[in-house]
Amino acid sequence: MDKVLIANRGEIALRILRACKELGIKTVAVHSTADRNLKHVLLADESICIGNASATESYLNIPRIIAAAEVTNSIAIHPGYGFLAENADFADAVEKSGFIFIGPRADTINLMGDKVSAINAMKKAGVPCVPGSDGPLTDDADRNKTIAKRIGYPIIVKAAGGGGGRGMRVVRSEAELIKSIETTKAEAGAAFGNDVVYMEKFLENPRHVEIQVLADGQGNAIHLGERDCSMQRRHQKVVEEAPAPGISEQMRSKIGDRCRKACIEIGYRGAGTFEFLYENGEFYFIEMNTRIQVEHPVSEMITGVDLVKEQLRIAAGQPLSIDQSQIQIRGHAIECRINAEDPISFIPSPGKIEMFHPPGGLGVRWDSHIYAGYTVPPYYDSMIGKLITYGESRDEAIARMRHALDELVVDGIKTNIPLQQRIMADENFYAGGTNIHYLEKKLGLA
Ligand code: ADP
Repeated sequence: MDKVLIANRGEIALRILRACKELGIKTVAVHSTADRNLKHVLLADESICIGNASATESYLNIPRIIAAAEVTNSIAIHPGYGFLAENADFADAVEKSGFIFIGPRADTINLMGDKVSAINAMKKAGVPCVPGSDGPLTDDADRNKTIAKRIGYPIIVKAAGGGGGRGMRVVRSEAELIKSIETTKAEAGAAFGNDVVYMEKFLENPRHVEIQVLADGQGNAIHLGERDCSMQRRHQKVVEEAPAPGISEQMRSKIGDRCRKACIEIGYRGAGTFEFLYENGEFYFIEMNTRIQVEHPVSEMITGVDLVKEQLRIAAGQPLSIDQSQIQIRGHAIECRINAEDPISFIPSPGKIEMFHPPGGLGVRWDSHIYAGYTVPPYYDSMIGKLITYGESRDEAIARMRHALDELVVDGIKTNIPLQQRIMADENFYAGGTNIHYLEKKLGLA
């Protein structure tokens, strides 16, 4: 696998390029007309403009990406996260065109992309799930009322094809049930082209804890421990850390082993994440992400495993180079997402970066494509970088994050650095184990 096309942009495209360079793999950057000056485009062996700024004309345009792979004689395509990373049609088109898709097989993406089939597959594999309807809801109102009563209110109606925190509705009493199902169904049909909905117990104060896995599709799989991503706003993660506060080695092994075995059972290939809600000492599976995630660096820092290099090796057909006994969790890592946005109103703030100083020092990692003079375009996600700190203890990782945030200077646009500084100074965050509603409550949004 000597040439990889990177079908993404921003920090993850640069992250993939770095991994390729370390492995001696040539890189092809594809970019939109708005992204000619992206850092990885300038560093790649070859680059190709695939279309206009609008993502539908570039990063989401399957025929153009395949054509770029053809003209550059690429061997494989790395989708990164977002855009086409979990699009089974894309994975299928890549493989049918004779390229390697760096990720799972298209049928695995399909299985996990539909939440109802994902939950069923996970249940079968012995992964604990949220008590729920065990399948799609029908139009039978009496049946739906019986299911909700059995689960116990409050419940949440969720779209099987939902994503990005959209397509769900909490129901607190039978009086609201039928109307809520109808509304969620209609919204899901319009937003996702799939109006299948299901029901789950609504957990009031859970934490978001997820397990990172690697599997080679040849019968080997490992887990790399958990991450806590409970610090969220509008279901979007703001801060992530690993390991999760309060999770014992015994609990980690138990849930991690279930995920590992589930990977083997479904023939999983590549890097993946099992997302759980965690409440009162119990894990409840909510979904699986079949790609590399934004927050993967915190797992890399505590295990020493380069997840993107492992993705590339697996895609090249190599068996996993490490087994579970070699995974040792050491120290603590925290990631703060740095966004180009107003720290109070959260309105995106694209524009030219006039001055930039990255932070540094022992245990400080800055994964970002920005530089002084770079203009953040208005067309894509507002994340401009990820600041990751590592320490022997959680306290040390937090202390490093505090000074690293003070050192980080991004002038010319607004960023959420002040928000991250507030979170790092928060006494409940410092204590550890805050739930998924904590940040919105702190900000007065909930
Ligand atoms: P998406 O694919 O849109 O991200 P998820 O199923 O991962 O949807 O859920 C996103 C978020 O919605 C979760 O992180 C959690 O905050 C909330 N959520 C989902 N299911 C439940 C549930 N059963 N109880 C409480 N909160 C839930």
